Amino acid sequence: MTAASLIDRILTEVERATDEVVGFTSDLIRIPTVNPPGEFYEDCARFIGDHLGRLGHEVEYFAAEGRPEHTTRHPRVNVVGSRRGLAARPTVHLNGHFDVVPAGEGWTLDPFGGIVRDGRVYGRGSCDMKAGIAAAVYAVEAIRRAGVVLPGTVEVSGTVDEESGGFAGVAWLAEHGRLSPTRTDYCIIPEPLNVDRICVGHRGVYWFEVAARGHIAHGSMPFLGVSAIDGMSRLLQAIREELMPTLASRRTAVPVVPEGARAATLNVNGIFGGQPVDGIQTPCVADVCRAVFDRRFLLEEGFDRTKQEVEALLERVRALEPRVQYSLRDLMVVHPTRTPDDSPVIAALQGGIDRVLGKQAELIASPGTYDHKHVARIAGVPHCVAYGPGELEQAHQPDEYTRVDDIVNSTKVLALAVLDLTGALR
Ligand SMILES: [Zn+2]
Repeated sequence: MTAASLIDRILTEVERATDEVVGFTSDLIRIPTVNPPGEFYEDCARFIGDHLGRLGHEVEYFAAEGRPEHTTRHPRVNVVGSRRGLAARPTVHLNGHFDVVPAGEGWTLDPFGGIVRDGRVYGRGSCDMKAGIAAAVYAVEAIRRAGVVLPGTVEVSGTVDEESGGFAGVAWLAEHGRLSPTRTDYCIIPEPLNVDRICVGHRGVYWFEVAARGHIAHGSMPFLGVSAIDGMSRLLQAIREELMPTLASRRTAVPVVPEGARAATLNVNGIFGGQPVDGIQTPCVADVCRAVFDRRFLLEEGFDRTKQEVEALLERVRALEPRVQYSLRDLMVVHPTRTPDDSPVIAALQGGIDRVLGKQAELIASPGTYDHKHVARIAGVPHCVAYGPGELEQAHQPDEYTRVDDIVNSTKVLALAVLDLTGALR
């Protein structure tokens, strides 16, 4: 069979499977795998595993033993299906998280109904990212139905907890060697980043808490105390006047979208000081005020410089009122990640997008973070990207949907990328 006829047969098989891939997306949406707290994970893992088993995969389940969030009430169960071809390597791993964020307000239809209407599949997790899991499953299946025995191995996994950090999901598989350079060559994560875009990484995340401590006194004589709230407001002012303009002026060379996220950013997640405002009030100067910050840093900045900058700012603020004590506590650090420019996984998807959509793929990076970091940093597999159906802007929204066209097209692109990466087109 020539490469051209091979490709045509596989694309035809994806077309024929349209109802199945859409139906599988709907079925997954109907399992309300809401995180937090992590509902119905085991049901969803078994559902995906049973399906993969019927499609000829060898199926393994991995409960996240040792993780505190893996409990009897909310077990963290991951599933991996493998189809080995002529040889074990190269191995292409397609990974999707099956947890979804809570439905929230504002829906006009059942968020867990899996409703298909006007060429769209609606529901919580439709684009983020149950359509992506369905696309991965049927990309592999279309190759099988076309009668192709791959030169290497292809795997499809469904994992937990991406929305809450992925520690019992992809990170667990990476820590336990199930994703590793000794068995995994390429990884594609079908997150919703638009059907013609390839995501090559993300910025870094630094969540930290600052506590300001002053001195309590009677509220009628505030001059006898030291207000921690005043201390925190000095810090916020310094952040606004000194830090923010500096951050906004720094631009990364990594192609982060949207445009505004190409700069370094900072958000105040929350702040609390003094007495609860709904409680019974007593006349007291606030002795403690705490705030949590979300700093997104650039590959070029790095974590050390990012943290030093915060420490230096605290020093300057401390000098303004030495009686206020500031303490800094790290809550979470995610390092930035970027796929090498010459990675075969980028070229394979570019080829697929060109063939299926007739256009040049756009390379982007994500404003947020996703499981890529665990694949790159813990597993040590550098050849990882995100590519999948659905629009990023739809993620976590009411009336979330994915276009059926996008699901079918990205299934085709994924199938062609698997062919290319396993060496079937050579
Ligand atoms: Zn996602």
